[in-house]
Amino acid sequence: MKYVLVTGGVVSGLGKGVTASSIGVVLKACGLRVTSIKIDPYLNTDAGTMSPFEHGEVFVLDDGGEVDLDLGNYERFLDVTLTKDNNITTGKIYQSVLEKERKGDYLGKTVQVVPHITDEIKNWIESVSLIPVDGKEGQADVCVIELGGTVGDIESMPFIEALRQLSFSVGQENFCLIHVSLIPVLGVVGEQKTKPTQHSVRDLRALGLTPHFLACRSAQPLLEATKTKLSQFCHVSADNILNIHDVPNIWHIPLLLRNQNAHQSILKQLNLIGVATAPDLD
Ligand code: ADP
Repeated sequence: MKYVLVTGGVVSGLGKGVTASSIGVVLKACGLRVTSIKIDPYLNTDAGTMSPFEHGEVFVLDDGGEVDLDLGNYERFLDVTLTKDNNITTGKIYQSVLEKERKGDYLGKTVQVVPHITDEIKNWIESVSLIPVDGKEGQADVCVIELGGTVGDIESMPFIEALRQLSFSVGQENFCLIHVSLIPVLGVVGEQKTKPTQHSVRDLRALGLTPHFLACRSAQPLLEATKTKLSQFCHVSADNILNIHDVPNIWHIPLLLRNQNAHQSILKQLNLIGVATAPDLD
């Protein structure tokens, strides 16, 4: 199994969900089978009891799971049928660990965030990624994991640590990290600013995760000079800096990625060149 992790920096609501779904579309168009997992670090067990005014649409899956609206994006973009286990929340993880603790599964041990919560997260990701969601037999080739929230949030720390361990255990060629970040433009100066992204990449690295790609959200396409600066200061190759500027319709984003050859770079990172074919998105 190959994993593509999508994290977010600087602010929430950047478009991680749409970016993750679009990456799934481009990979699927290359002939790969794609599944997805959404991680929501909140304590609610699911989104069913959350106000839609605060949280947006609650998406109801075929198995009755009440989940984050991003799973709706995944189902629509990728034409898959996800299960409620494809949405992981802190509440679900703690519930499962606490049930095991009461049953005596950890008898004699002190139950701790590391390793028990982090192991639960890793095991959950690894077992859910194997569930076929596209109506075919057998496991998918790639699992796109979106980590909700912003890197540095206290509540996402156990997930970051679990994902760091996962990246190490599956090995370099099976793990690709795409960090979605904001490139603001200061009104008076009119310049695309890279500093917030530099800081969020630094936060990510301090937690042991190295981004292979930056997906930059900006009002206008990135200037070459901005890309060069990002590449230099964030230690990400210029080819792996993706431009996801504002578009009138989110269905343009897979094409935006395809036109930047994002599929080639992701396939290269995942050592899938030669296995997958050129995407057919037209
Ligand atoms: P996140 O997962 O980071 O919270 P979402 O993927 O839910 O963010 O996107 C937040 C909002 O921004 C959605 O309404 C989405 O349609 C919109 N959006 C995302 N990317 C773009 C883009 N490139 N251009 C215009 N709107 C976008």
